[in-house]
Amino acid sequence: MGILIKNVQLWDEEIGKRRNIYIEGSRITGIDQEPEHFSEDETIDGSHKVMMPGFVNAHTHAYMSVFRNYADDLPFAEWLFEKIDPLESNLTSEQAYWGNMLSIIEMIRTGTTCFVDMHMFPEMAVKACADSGIRGVITRGLVGSDRNDEACARRVKEALDEIDYAANEPAANVTFGLGPHAIYTAGEDVLRYVAELAKEKGLFINIHATETPYEYETCLKEHGKTPIAYLKDCGILDGPALLAHCVYLDDEDYAILRESGASVATNPASNMKLGNGFAPVARMLDEGINVCLGTDGASSNNALNMFRELNLLTLTQKGVTKDTTALNAETTMKIAVENGYKAVGLGKKGGKIEKGRIADVILLDEEAPNFQPKFNWKAAFAYSASGYEVSDVLVAGKVLMRNRILTTIDEERVNYEIAKAVSKF
Ligand SMILES: [Zn+2]
Repeated sequence: MGILIKNVQLWDEEIGKRRNIYIEGSRITGIDQEPEHFSEDETIDGSHKVMMPGFVNAHTHAYMSVFRNYADDLPFAEWLFEKIDPLESNLTSEQAYWGNMLSIIEMIRTGTTCFVDMHMFPEMAVKACADSGIRGVITRGLVGSDRNDEACARRVKEALDEIDYAANEPAANVTFGLGPHAIYTAGEDVLRYVAELAKEKGLFINIHATETPYEYETCLKEHGKTPIAYLKDCGILDGPALLAHCVYLDDEDYAILRESGASVATNPASNMKLGNGFAPVARMLDEGINVCLGTDGASSNNALNMFRELNLLTLTQKGVTKDTTALNAETTMKIAVENGYKAVGLGKKGGKIEKGRIADVILLDEEAPNFQPKFNWKAAFAYSASGYEVSDVLVAGKVLMRNRILTTIDEERVNYEIAKAVSKF
């Protein structure tokens, strides 16, 4: 099956230059030059559209959109332990599935084609990825003080079983990792166990790290080292790792992160909303760390819109450093796109509009008023876009949204199920 996107503007080329993009199967197989034996099943008119790779939302909890706007403006511990945790422990798998679908709708509509999820409801994220067609990097949240704890053993089993479950969902574009929740919910023995398991099974690790001043100070007090040094000692940074937040770092932490090759998913909206401050993104980049971007869950953001997030990222870095050049549009877009693909192991396969790369791409309305006049697409996306200029979304060569109409999800049904799920909160 072949898709031709005709006469489209690419986001990184001079204004006015138009291209024909050929897609076969899951990949881009030609730019301007029609591949041999190309059979055109679908043509998308790109004459008023600008095309870029879809975003990787590098940190979220997709099921949590059921909690959107439920508990806001509270201290972090009260928000998490008194409001969200009790609701979460009563949430059913079915409700979590609809939460996933609601998040996926928002992500597709605002140009995300891949998301990294830490979840508490086995198989639901995989099912939602299979049903919607979005790409997912799925990690089961793991907690407990010791590897023999019932909670830890059960969750690890669920994490591994889920990989088998996905093998029977051939439609799902998913890969897996392990998600020890954080150093304050997963004890040292659990962290060491997860590190061993990740190595043995060839899985990457997704963890919240050094998000709050409390977490940072407590770690110094209890372990005599920073959260990053502690994670290193537990073996968490030995293999591929993705660390969400990293707001509090000391001078030595930068070198540890750089040398480990770990990626950091920064979440500016969540960090500000929960009163946790601003991650030192500009410095992390200067230190050679792969920083990518995430929205976090919908109860701490409260949106899963990468355009909104990257706008906040660039503005806050300029504000905090009092340096207008701290994070320019080009670098901001690189963080949101290229670095995200790199963090999830797709650095060589995606993140660029090139022959041979995966066809995870989005089209935006080139004539949107906030995109006029046309000078520089990356500046338009970093400073002017709302996210809802996205008109078409393809993942692995499959159309998930065409002219703003979702092709795989019944939005009315999702809204109905969500309203039903939250009616008893
Ligand atoms: Zn999170």
